[in-house]
Amino acid sequence: MLAAASDVALRGSWMRLKACRNPPCHLGFYDRTRNSSAAYCSPNRCGAQVAMRAYRSRKAKEEGR
Ligand SMILES: [Zn+2]
Repeated sequence: MLAAASDVALRGSWMRLKACRNPPCHLGFYDRTRNSSAAYCSPNRCGAQVAMRAYRSRKAKEEGR
């Protein structure tokens, strides 16, 4: 009973193990969000970095017209 429960918990935690979507980072991280929607190891670090990069490239494109 206990073994089966921990087996499911283990499998569940593997499902939540992800790689950061910030290209230079690619750090493995454990997704703690309820719907496992996390994309970055840290939304404050990598999430913000990717958002800033997207913002800059968008701005550069607009100015390059
Ligand atoms: Zn990261």
